[in-house]
Amino acid sequence: MLHSNKHDLIVAYQQEYDDTLHRTTPFSTEAVAAVERHIAAFDRLLETAGKYWSGKRWGAVFLPDHGARLDAATGKGEHSLDIPEDMEIKHFWRFSFPSTT
Ligand SMILES: [Zn+2]
Repeated sequence: MLHSNKHDLIVAYQQEYDDTLHRTTPFSTEAVAAVERHIAAFDRLLETAGKYWSGKRWGAVFLPDHGARLDAATGKGEHSLDIPEDMEIKHFWRFSFPSTT
C-alpha cells in the first residue's frame, strides 16, 4: 500500500489493548502484550514508510485516544472519567524531512 504513494493520510486504528484492559486490567500480561503488538505494528509502519518514502517528506504519529486505570469497583480497566489518568496521554511521532541540497 505505501509503495503506491497514492495516500495523503493513512489512519490505522487498533482496538486490542482497549478490549483487553476492560476484560482484565490495564497492566495485565494480556494487556501489556496487546500494547506491545500495537507498538510492533507502528514500528513496521515506520520501517515501511522509511523504505518506500525515502527522499520524501512524511510524518507518522502514534495517538492513544485516552488513558487507562484500574476501576476499584470492578477490578478491571476503565477510562471513562474526566480525570488525569483517563485524559492525560502521551503521543509519539516521527517526521522525515530529507535534505533538499
Ligand atoms: Zn474502552
